[in-house]
Amino acid sequence: MFSQRVFLVTGGNRGIGFEIVKKLAVSHPNDLILLGSRDQTRGEDALVQLGSPSNVKVVQVDTSSTASIEQVRQEIENKYNGHLDVLINNAGIAPNGKSSRELKDIFNTNFYGVRHMNDTMASILRDNGRIVNVSSEAALLSITHCSSDLKARFLNPNLTETELVELFEPLFKAVEEGKDPDTVGFDPIEYPGLRDAYLVYYAASKLGVTVLSRLEARDWDKNYSTKNVIISSVCPGFCSTDLNNKAEGARPPELGADSILHCVYTENLENGQFWRDGKKLSLEMD
Ligand code: NDP
Repeated sequence: MFSQRVFLVTGGNRGIGFEIVKKLAVSHPNDLILLGSRDQTRGEDALVQLGSPSNVKVVQVDTSSTASIEQVRQEIENKYNGHLDVLINNAGIAPNGKSSRELKDIFNTNFYGVRHMNDTMASILRDNGRIVNVSSEAALLSITHCSSDLKARFLNPNLTETELVELFEPLFKAVEEGKDPDTVGFDPIEYPGLRDAYLVYYAASKLGVTVLSRLEARDWDKNYSTKNVIISSVCPGFCSTDLNNKAEGARPPELGADSILHCVYTENLENGQFWRDGKKLSLEMD
């Protein structure tokens, strides 16, 4: 049995993911940190920026591709100790326009990609492992701008993952048909400087991640033999990165990394919860 722990950070080549890898590389000199990058060259460039520490390796993984996710699982099995201890699903995108293709892209990476990563990595995750799904406080904006019927469905304690996926289907249909999201219960969100489409689609994908994390935590022991896995969703806080064109006034991505790493390091962390900077956030709040 390998004692060396293995961490995988998706979207580790820049922004908050890069800062997470940088911190883990220093704090875990005897463990293996896998810097996930959808583009191998961008990953290698990031490794050079880190000073090419021997405990960091680059793996190519596009989280919107099921084939790529399966490939990286095989790579870990064959090349990198065969197991994972900590999976940080950090990769994420924000839209830059209003079309059904972008809605699909956003969901493929931010929501379906996270779900598929977790399902695929379950077989190599070790006992006492951690999964951290990077969400956003936009999830709170999304749920407070849902119709009361939709909100009740998202918060139904008996909701299944399949039903969660189905809750977004009317949104896809509406967008494809050129209808506004509010016709299917996703109301417009006002936020200075940001367009409705940005927030409705992005926020809905992050609501999906946060609800998914609750369901995964609830059902993990039923679905998989790995024991004592703690699954969290976390908001890194508003950080200055490429995602928001390095917004003025936003905090440095290092702090976003700390917010995420809280869910890795905190002992006896409550399972299935949503965090920011070590404080619990609640979807149930009005
Ligand atoms: P950046 O845009 O700076 O970085 C995003 C990273 O995700 C890049 O490495 C990018 O790779 C990668 N990525 C995007 N799509 C994929 C994909 N399909 N497969 C693999 N990697 C992918 O964003 P941030 O660092 O700001 O965001 C990190 C996470 O934090 C995201 O999930 C975001 O939603 C969340 N978040 C960020 C906030 C902020 O204020 N910045 C606030 C709340 C949440 P590439 O270089 O190849 O494009």
